[in-house]
Amino acid sequence: MAPGFIDSHAHLNLMPEGFAPDEVFLRSMKAGLEALVNVGTNIDHSRESISLAEKNPRIFATVGLHPSEAHLWNDETSKTIAELARAPRVVAIGETGLDFSYPEPSREDQERAFRGHIALALSLSLPLVIHCRDAFDRLFAILSEERLPSPPGVLHCFTGDEKSARTAVGLGFYISFSGIVTFKNASSLRAVARIVPEDRVLVETDCPYLAPVPYRGKTNEPAFIPEILNTLSLETGRELSDLSLRIVRNTRTLFRLPAADRP
Ligand SMILES: [Zn+2]
Ligand SMILES: [Zn+2]
Repeated sequence: MAPGFIDSHAHLNLMPEGFAPDEVFLRSMKAGLEALVNVGTNIDHSRESISLAEKNPRIFATVGLHPSEAHLWNDETSKTIAELARAPRVVAIGETGLDFSYPEPSREDQERAFRGHIALALSLSLPLVIHCRDAFDRLFAILSEERLPSPPGVLHCFTGDEKSARTAVGLGFYISFSGIVTFKNASSLRAVARIVPEDRVLVETDCPYLAPVPYRGKTNEPAFIPEILNTLSLETGRELSDLSLRIVRNTRTLFRLPAADRP
């Protein structure tokens, strides 16, 4: 039997036509999926995440405003997100963070929204799902200024270097690897995978985006997670079934997911 896995970051509500969430989920279960965290990127998508989670005991939700929508963070939206965050199926706040790879929204807007999410996560004792691209210096500056929940959360779809990975681990964060780690040109990310402590590694699809090799360019889905696990096993020299079990345990610990048997 293939090792079990948890998709720590998926957007089943954003799958394109022809990929009904129920069908995608069934295929993924056959491939070994035990649970899935569906991540909100704005208010509508956060609501959709909660409703998916309410219908399926193996799906959990997060709520937040993606950095690309940080200009929408204001008294009203932050209040709505805080209300949604109290739903019983919500296991984390985000995705939030900083993405300086595009000029908009402004860095000020992104930092304000990010600090708002951190305060909310702290007040509800929920971990953060952090998206960071081309902004690690500012990200770590803010994280060291603010009080963080414990455990603080995950740096999802990690694309930083070894130094950033060490800093994140030092702050208590988990590091989540997406299909990018399987890409031919991602040797520096595979080097990062070799130095992240075993008890801090998570895996994710970020589906429908970022399908791993050999599905690169196709619509991604949780059934492809074993490709990521295979790459991590090859890179770290850890046995696939041990590594998979460890990563499932890490994910359950971070998001405080109930233990569940595989069918
Ligand atoms: Zn993201
Ligand atoms: Zn995402």
